[in-house]
Amino acid sequence: MKRQKSYCFDAGFGVGRSGVIHGVDWRNVKNFFISHGHIDHTGGLPEALFCCWKLRFSGETARQVSIYTPSVRQAQAALTMLHENHAAFENFLDVKIIPITEKLVFQDEIIRVEALANTHIVNAPTQTAARSYAFRITGPFGSIVYTGDLGSLDEGGIGEACDLRLMEDGHFRPEELLARLRSEAPQPKGTKAEQVVFLHHSREVMKDPDAALRRIPREQRKNIHFSCDGATFVFHPKSGWQLDKDSIVGHKTEEVKP
Ligand SMILES: [Zn+2]
Ligand SMILES: [Zn+2]
Repeated sequence: MKRQKSYCFDAGFGVGRSGVIHGVDWRNVKNFFISHGHIDHTGGLPEALFCCWKLRFSGETARQVSIYTPSVRQAQAALTMLHENHAAFENFLDVKIIPITEKLVFQDEIIRVEALANTHIVNAPTQTAARSYAFRITGPFGSIVYTGDLGSLDEGGIGEACDLRLMEDGHFRPEELLARLRSEAPQPKGTKAEQVVFLHHSREVMKDPDAALRRIPREQRKNIHFSCDGATFVFHPKSGWQLDKDSIVGHKTEEVKP
């Protein structure tokens, strides 16, 4: 049976176990894309690599895994953790660390990944390449923008129009992000509206996601969702992106009254 391909965008704490619970076969993950080096986005990298290594087939030759990251030293540190005490690690997993410095990061027969620099981590004067990025992922499913963490309200619209926008609300209020997004990138008439999924929630949103949704003006609430851990979005060729009802925090958007 042909194995599926999977791609991992950011690797926060618990990503290995969380992936397994939600059906990820780590043997299929060959490419990691790290938006920035904050530990809540990378703390699970050693664990994820360990899963890739541990689940190898016996007798299989070394598999290649690539980590695209603006924080190379940190990815090297994750590898060091594994090399240090697992002598056979490099015999079975051949890991390449590729610095993100340019817009086009990756392309294979399925997806194309572009890195869009933002100001979430501000450069030291001596550094030239940006240290934090959003990703725009295009493929047979249309386009997805994953914002990573944002540096300003203006950066929610980064990557312009897309079909599915995965936007953090941990640093900015969702209603303000959305207002800015809609004023700067209004949905073109006649096109399919993009789905906006808020994730990486602030404490305030986690405490009362329904209240967070109510703070968004009613006319802007269509296609807005607040995800929970393990959220699942499925692409249907005819109807576009569908969100698993159980993946939404609180009630479904339409059920929340103003
Ligand atoms: Zn961050
Ligand atoms: Zn973060």
